[in-house]
Amino acid sequence: MKSKLCIECGARDTYEFKNTIREYKGNGYHFEMHVNIPFCKICGAPIYDEEIEKEIAEKANEKIREQREIITREEILEILESYRISQKLLSRLLGWGEITLTRYISGNYTPNASNSTRIKELKNPYVFQKLLQNYCDEETIEEKEKKALKKAKSGVLYQLSGLNGIHGKGNLF
Ligand SMILES: [Zn+2]
Repeated sequence: MKSKLCIECGARDTYEFKNTIREYKGNGYHFEMHVNIPFCKICGAPIYDEEIEKEIAEKANEKIREQREIITREEILEILESYRISQKLLSRLLGWGEITLTRYISGNYTPNASNSTRIKELKNPYVFQKLLQNYCDEETIEEKEKKALKKAKSGVLYQLSGLNGIHGKGNLF
């Protein structure tokens, strides 16, 4: 192992590894990571070790990439608005707990990668239309839900008409 020098007090090779928490915050990501790094036994200052830092940076970058790909709260709100659908109803359509989307939107929870992907896919109106269709085929629809579903259907038709100019074409459901 390479010799480690404390730049604070000049002590050489008098270090111990300690667990410490580092916070990473930036555009589209925010997380904490536990890292195990050397500290000077004499003065307590952290000792910079190129190899260790390189490894930590790689791990952190991977996590940053991961988090940046996760759908944002704003993107979810945009989807809800474009299809004129409520948080609760879309959660049910996706087969999730009723408050799942609400939790994502209120910011207390971050969707995991697979849920994030499922929501992102809904940006494609055809995917949303299929989800709506499947739900209407399989579930017993309550009376009060019918109105909301109808609204969502008109929402998706509106989005589709914007896509390929099929204004006024009905019977897609
Ligand atoms: Zn020191």
